[in-house]
Amino acid sequence: MASEFAPCTEAQKKAVLERLAVIRQNIAEACRDAGRPESDVTLMAVTKTVSPELINIAFDAGVHTLGENRVQEFLSKRDAYRPDAEVHFIGHLQTNKVRQIIDKVKLIHSVDSLHLAEEIDKAAARQGIVMPVLIEVNIGGEASKSGVSPAELPQLLSQLQTLSGIRTDGLMTIPPPMTDETEQNRVFAQMRQLYDSLRQTVPMHVLSMGMSGDYAAAVRNGSTLVRIGSALFGARYYPPKPEG
Ligand SMILES: *Cc1c(COP(=O)(O)O)cnc(C)c1O
Repeated sequence: MASEFAPCTEAQKKAVLERLAVIRQNIAEACRDAGRPESDVTLMAVTKTVSPELINIAFDAGVHTLGENRVQEFLSKRDAYRPDAEVHFIGHLQTNKVRQIIDKVKLIHSVDSLHLAEEIDKAAARQGIVMPVLIEVNIGGEASKSGVSPAELPQLLSQLQTLSGIRTDGLMTIPPPMTDETEQNRVFAQMRQLYDSLRQTVPMHVLSMGMSGDYAAAVRNGSTLVRIGSALFGARYYPPKPEG
C-alpha cells in the first residue's frame, strides 16, 4: 500500500522539480545537437522504490509516462497514481504474471522470447485487446542481461508478426553501464541502425534507450523514449532484507 511510504518532505518535492528542469534542458540540448524536435522524445519516470506521492509530483509537472519494473510493487502503488498516468512495464516479465498487468499497462518494453510473447498474445486475446510491445535487445552481449542478441532479433520480430494479440512498436535496450561518451555513442548508434533496418519491413515508432547516466547520448542517437529513475528521484533506497 501507499502507506508504506513516509510522507515526502517539501525539500524532496523541490529536489524532484529541480532535477526535472535539468533533465528537460539536457534533452532539449541533445535534440538541438541532433536536429530533432523535442516532441520526438518521451521522458518516462522510472518508479521503482519511489513513493506514489513523489511520482505524482513528477506527473503534475508534466511527466505523464511511468515505467514499472515489478508487478507486485506496481499493483500495490497504482491506486495512488493519477488516473491518467500512462504506465509501461519495463522490467523482466515472468509469463505467469502477464495476466496481472495486461489490462493495466499501455506498452510492455521487455519482450525477449517467443514464449513470453505467446503468453502476452493469449492474455491480450482474452481481454479483446492488441498489446503493443517492444523487443528487448541485449546490445552489450552480457550473459547476465535479458534481451535477444542482434543476431536473433529478425527471427523473433517475424515470429511476433504472426501473433494477432501483439503489435511490435519498437525496440528497447539496457546497455552495460558506460561512462565514456564515445562508447555510449557507439552502442546507441548500433541500436539505431538495427531499428532503422528493421523498420524497412515492420512499421515501428519507439526506440526505448537511455537512462540516468546516458540519456543525452541516447537522444543524440535517435532514442524516442528515455527511462529515467535516479536522475529524477534521487538514489534508490533498498531496505535491507530481513535474515532467514
Ligand atoms: C531502473 C531502470 C531504469 C532507470 O535507471 P536509472 O539509472 O535510475 O535512470 C531504466 N530502465 C530500466 C529497465 C530500469 O530497470
